[in-house]
Amino acid sequence: MNVVYRGRFAPTPSGPLHFGSIVAAVGSYVEARTHGGEWHLRIDDLDPPRVVQGAVDSILRCLEQLGFEWDGPVIYQSQRAPAYHAALHQLRQHGMVYPCACSRKEIAEHAVMGVEGPVYPGTCRDGMPPGREARAVRLRTAGARVAFEDAVLGPQGRDIEREAGDFVLYRADGVFAFHLASAVDDGELGMTDIVRGADLLESSARQIYVLRLLGLPVPRYAHLPIAVNASGEKLSKQTHAEAIDPRDPGRVLVPALRFLGQAPPQELSGESTHVLWDWATTNWRLDRVPQGRAVPIE
Ligand SMILES: [Zn+2]
Repeated sequence: MNVVYRGRFAPTPSGPLHFGSIVAAVGSYVEARTHGGEWHLRIDDLDPPRVVQGAVDSILRCLEQLGFEWDGPVIYQSQRAPAYHAALHQLRQHGMVYPCACSRKEIAEHAVMGVEGPVYPGTCRDGMPPGREARAVRLRTAGARVAFEDAVLGPQGRDIEREAGDFVLYRADGVFAFHLASAVDDGELGMTDIVRGADLLESSARQIYVLRLLGLPVPRYAHLPIAVNASGEKLSKQTHAEAIDPRDPGRVLVPALRFLGQAPPQELSGESTHVLWDWATTNWRLDRVPQGRAVPIE
């Protein structure tokens, strides 16, 4: 049987789940379930210094207590290095990547600012300066344009070369970049639909470009508004977002559904996870999700 819908939630184990991450989990889960689809759980533990001990257990326990049920085994990016190496090899064979010796400081001195930081000025595109060692492997983006339809935000078009530039796929210290790993996982594991926070909208354009170069299927995308605090900062460990308390699922799931533009009745707060998810999957409407990159929480 062909899978018509396969979605996933992919938290980084840098700390316990907070409201912002729960919103992405709820949106992707309900979308998958209302389509009769699969929902997978992937742990984005690529970058060892960012992985906090105990965070994976805390995330899994929290999702379980909130009544999320994922399909298949949990996927760990830290165990998928062979797949990322193979993808990088494939891109190298097609002449799409090159080693880069530039330091962050050198790039900052010569770069213009793009949508998310400096655009790589292309210093090593035709070879590294003599005597220098590679610090990273970059992807060529000359002429790269990506257009896609976002199910929440509408039509999107990106000029990757101008807005992001040749971006890093692999660091010399052995860490694969998020864009490569995420694209390879989504493509190879057959994800049909990516539902995640709008803070990853620019990333999605780059990942679509990588997917196409690798000849992998490109999923559909829906970017949810991200929860910001009163100062407009994304909720994260850095902004001291509170870890949520999964022992009281209604107090977590009802506000998350409200944030996503749904209208759960107040009395749902005291219900079991079974009743909560039943309500959510029966009443979910993607067209009610607010369009916008950031929405403050009350
Ligand atoms: Zn360079």
